[in-house]
Amino acid sequence: MAASLASCVHCGMCIESCHYVLSNPGDPTFAPVYKADQIRKIFKRHYDWTGRVIPWWVKAKSVFTDEELEELKDVVFGKCTNCRRCSINCPMGVDYATFNRMARGLLVHNGIMPEGVAAVSKDQWEIGNQMGVLKEDYLETLEWMEEELQSELENPDIKIPIDKIDCDVVYSINPREVKYDPRTIADAAKIFHYAGENWTMPSEGWDMTNFGLFSGDDELGGAVARRLFEKTEDLKGKKLVISECGHGYRSTRCEGPNWAGMDIPFEMESSVNTMLRYIKEGRIKVDKSRNTDPVTFHDSCNNARSCGLFEEPRELLNLVCTDFREMYPNRSENYCCTGGGGAMSMSEYTNQRLKSAKVKAEQLKDTEAKFVVTSCHNCVDGLTDVIRHYKLDMKVTQLVNLVSNALVIEEEVAMPPVVEVPEPAVHEWLVGRKILVTDDEPDFVIFISTLLEDNGATVFRAHDGDQAIEIAKTEKPDLLTLDITMPGKSGAEIFDYFRDDPELKSIPICIITGKPELRKLIYEHPSAPPDGYLDKPITEEGLLLNIRKIFEVGHHEKAKSGN
Ligand code: SF4
Ligand code: SF4
Repeated sequence: MAASLASCVHCGMCIESCHYVLSNPGDPTFAPVYKADQIRKIFKRHYDWTGRVIPWWVKAKSVFTDEELEELKDVVFGKCTNCRRCSINCPMGVDYATFNRMARGLLVHNGIMPEGVAAVSKDQWEIGNQMGVLKEDYLETLEWMEEELQSELENPDIKIPIDKIDCDVVYSINPREVKYDPRTIADAAKIFHYAGENWTMPSEGWDMTNFGLFSGDDELGGAVARRLFEKTEDLKGKKLVISECGHGYRSTRCEGPNWAGMDIPFEMESSVNTMLRYIKEGRIKVDKSRNTDPVTFHDSCNNARSCGLFEEPRELLNLVCTDFREMYPNRSENYCCTGGGGAMSMSEYTNQRLKSAKVKAEQLKDTEAKFVVTSCHNCVDGLTDVIRHYKLDMKVTQLVNLVSNALVIEEEVAMPPVVEVPEPAVHEWLVGRKILVTDDEPDFVIFISTLLEDNGATVFRAHDGDQAIEIAKTEKPDLLTLDITMPGKSGAEIFDYFRDDPELKSIPICIITGKPELRKLIYEHPSAPPDGYLDKPITEEGLLLNIRKIFEVGHHEKAKSGN
């Protein structure tokens, strides 16, 4: 760290490495060397003799005012995703991203950080995972996916084992999978089952992500890693497999043991290596002709640049897809998805993030692929935002989805060939449901209403809280979607009103907000938290999945009946 802070010769070779610079030509404040100097000047003022003796000469300067602290916050959180692309292109070996993380940690310890960073860190400290997924929701989702798999494959033997002792594999996941993408859990379970794996998932300590990597808070990093390691030890697991997540892999396998101060008695590997091993060892068979769409691969910065995991996903892709094409540059030279470093949780920088994604959008577009595959849940969200913002004709998927789709199930030999079943035009579970959409943004109301109506629901629209209460009393909807920040009564007040009103309290509520810091509702209503919770921007798939989960799992109903 000290060498990185002291050895910059201002050659400028890092400048063109940064996607912020490439997407914002003419703005020198995005240059890595400029950003690094905002941290370096404080180091010089306090630790370097030149900075103490001749501060004006070496531009050494401490921070004194709240404004200066805010400016520093905007540099270290808002203008860098800690992707480390500039670091690998520095001839002096200056690792800017690493001391940028250190500067984040110093600010966090002084209570200065974007609100989203505070909210997510609090969730991970207090609830045990960074999306505030409650234990019962997690277990219900696993149960739900197990039932889906059993019925889809007509095989009652497929299980998602929980807390099994002495397993060869303990499988840890990203809370995003529970909340937005449970299909990845089902796909992994299908692969483990047909590989004949002796595996389990933990009931607690299952989150392999670690917001400490993004916030620079080593204490949080250590606490989170310790939970996962101790649970794996309790289960006597022989190997901890980490599902596809770049920062989860880096923070669990590479940084976690140091933060936690533990010697780890079991192996750790990415699920990418696990799936590749199963194919090489003949434990599963795959048929690549089931994945014929052109695909490209996005290297997550943490997996590729920081952990060297870039050949294995390509080997796997070539085994399960017929048309894999590289994007350029790639591997350790790939550009960040632009959602890295916790950027997806910092809503105040969204416009700047998307503007700075121009270079990423061009890189994706040039491949002419229909799918971009990535082994990182954070990149899935970052890339989805880029694709939507730049209107690219492309979707994001992960290796687990492709391997699952290509999996040849021996018992099915006599069955007709597997053909992709198109999604029904209408989601039958939505037909006839009455949904009250409440949001003060007219465009957002139109977006949600159209989507739900196209899928068979009857939608009522409210643009403020009073309207929502009035409509709910007359129409008795099956679900309320609720924005939090609205003029007049806030969403939080409406939420309380619904939960307290005997006539309305049985209506499930799905919060949809652009303010992740308002997750505190989960804490304030431990006995009746929201039935669903989505951060804006939302996707069609994410919205439908969450609403379906509310109707099918019926958590709020169960909570009320005491089941
Ligand atoms: S490439 Fe390295 S030495 Fe050159 S300006 Fe950037 S950080 Fe400094
Ligand atoms: S770490 Fe990445 S985002 Fe940050 S300055 Fe370097 S290249 Fe830019």
